[in-house]
Amino acid sequence: MEQGIPEAILSDTRLLQDLAEVAKDTALLNGVLMRTKEEPNSSELVTYAPFTLFPTAVPRGVFEQALAVQTQYNLLVDKISQDSEFLEEALASTAESDDFTGRLFSIYRQTIKEGRSQSVVLGLNRSDYMLDQQEGLPTALRQIEINTIAASFGGLASHTPDLHRHVLKVAGLSDLSHRILDNNPAAGLARGLAKAWELYGVERAVVMFLVEDVQRNIMDHRCVENELWSRDIPTIRRKFEDVSLGPDKRLFVDGQEVAVVYFRNGYMPQNYPTEQSWETRLLMERSRAIKCPDIATHLAGTKKVQQVLARPGVLERFFPEQPQVVQQIRATFAGLYTLDQGQEGDKTVAMAMANPEQFVLKPQREGGGNNFYGSEICRVLEEARGSSKRTAYILMDKVRARASVNYLLRRGAPLQPSQCLSELGVFGVYVRQGTDMVMNECVGHLLRTKSSEHADGGVAAGVAVLDNPLLV
Ligand code: ADP
Ligand code: MG
Ligand code: MG
Repeated sequence: MEQGIPEAILSDTRLLQDLAEVAKDTALLNGVLMRTKEEPNSSELVTYAPFTLFPTAVPRGVFEQALAVQTQYNLLVDKISQDSEFLEEALASTAESDDFTGRLFSIYRQTIKEGRSQSVVLGLNRSDYMLDQQEGLPTALRQIEINTIAASFGGLASHTPDLHRHVLKVAGLSDLSHRILDNNPAAGLARGLAKAWELYGVERAVVMFLVEDVQRNIMDHRCVENELWSRDIPTIRRKFEDVSLGPDKRLFVDGQEVAVVYFRNGYMPQNYPTEQSWETRLLMERSRAIKCPDIATHLAGTKKVQQVLARPGVLERFFPEQPQVVQQIRATFAGLYTLDQGQEGDKTVAMAMANPEQFVLKPQREGGGNNFYGSEICRVLEEARGSSKRTAYILMDKVRARASVNYLLRRGAPLQPSQCLSELGVFGVYVRQGTDMVMNECVGHLLRTKSSEHADGGVAAGVAVLDNPLLV
């Protein structure tokens, strides 16, 4: 790790043991917490959220590039969500071949038909990047995806900078600690939620976090919830089943009017176990509560839309008079390829089959662990041959990041060095009322790091852990 943690420290076993103890206790003291697998729905038993012992070197230039492009990504997502012609064209074939996208899309079509019942839009997203660091080429920022629904860890990421600074200090590296930036996405996310709540204009109405059945990551939510309570905004947690529609399309839960529904659920098929859950999603969508995200914004975050955006001329549709914005966004794109029926899709298949190690095959899924790599790409494409199944996927260039040594601290895991890869996330918040953008901000970042043995998987999937950029 050039300019990162010195080799002498990374191999001092005795010191590392001490540091790991200090780090875990400090994580507990600082609130870097998660519930356990055994008791996912009780805080009687909590542990530290998994994290790296050391922060990871990230070049300042690409870090700043990622922060700087975020408000443009906010605008882009918001513009896409208002362009029904574009969404229809981009997603029609995928909606047909992928049942989950199909169901979301039919809710979308229905709301378009009925007209929107709320003019306030709240977007809380996280754009994720890896660094392309191939021999002989300059380091390049490459977007992996943008999450427009249930993007997590803005809460816990607000508590990790002090944790890593403390570890550096105890390791005798206090001169490095100023290279870890302050970070408070929780406050920014709460500012967006608070603004939306205020624009809804009913003082007794609540912000409702729509949550999953299994709630291991509740502390991450609590960071944001408590920010809202500190502004005297009543905030509740509920599941899909709990809501109903009242007069004037107002959304109610237990007799309380809901101003904002913040989805921390609803992003994968398992989140809709019954027809009832789909009906509830539709009901919320029709209601005049502010949805974060609304169904159009949810769809704007699909991998298929990401692929279509990378086609020549498409970004220009959204920023017709702003070539420099187009260039700024496009500079972060990796190669993305269609698998639609037809010649172009056939070409993608041939290209993937010839060099599967160079690509990632992605379905329209979230939450980590869903992508295909290497020979699996060939198997999936082989199975889809001659059918429309392949249009459920997109193909993407695999980003080649340079691995660095770190220690992944996870409850019950032995302390051992791993070759690690990192992914930088940037949190964006925007609020629009009609045609008026009333808030558009980059509110912080998240670094997640995993062992390079794993091609895929996030923190919730048990693969990646929380980290901090050490700017170099
Ligand atoms: P999800 O919505 O499930 O998080 P992602 O697109 O983020 O889907 O993919 C999951 C993980 O797979 C990422 O966190 C990253 O580790 C890995 N990955 C995805 N795309 C690429 C890529 N183009 N190059 C290298 N790794 C990738
Ligand atoms: Mg995602
Ligand atoms: Mg991801």
